[in-house]
Amino acid sequence: MESVFTKIIKREIDAKIEYEDDLCIVFHDIHPKARVHLLIVPKKEIPTIMDAADEDQALLGHLILVARNMGRKLDLEGYRLQFNVGHKGGQEIYHIHLHLMGD
Ligand code: AMP
Repeated sequence: MESVFTKIIKREIDAKIEYEDDLCIVFHDIHPKARVHLLIVPKKEIPTIMDAADEDQALLGHLILVARNMGRKLDLEGYRLQFNVGHKGGQEIYHIHLHLMGD
């Protein structure tokens, strides 16, 4: 079954999309925990960081550099980047996503 984030990537569910490229999409979290709360989501559906393969290294690095670009675009002076990993790590949606939270 595809994740809710894949449905957003396929435009089957609405989201406030901030950026997209071949590898990832960025949209605003529906329940923001900061003034700016973005989710940076790879198009490749990997359930958790624990499932990432060595070959995903460039993709995972890309997510961080896209976060940097979003911080610049939105003029943030600082922000938090967070992966929740697995049930015990507070992860609710099993499609890797990087939270960017800035006030
Ligand atoms: P996590 O706990 O790391 O899995 O975070 C999942 C995040 O996805 C939460 O912060 C939710 O508010 C957010 N979320 C869930 N559904 C949607 C949606 N349809 N659009 C945007 N954000 C969502």
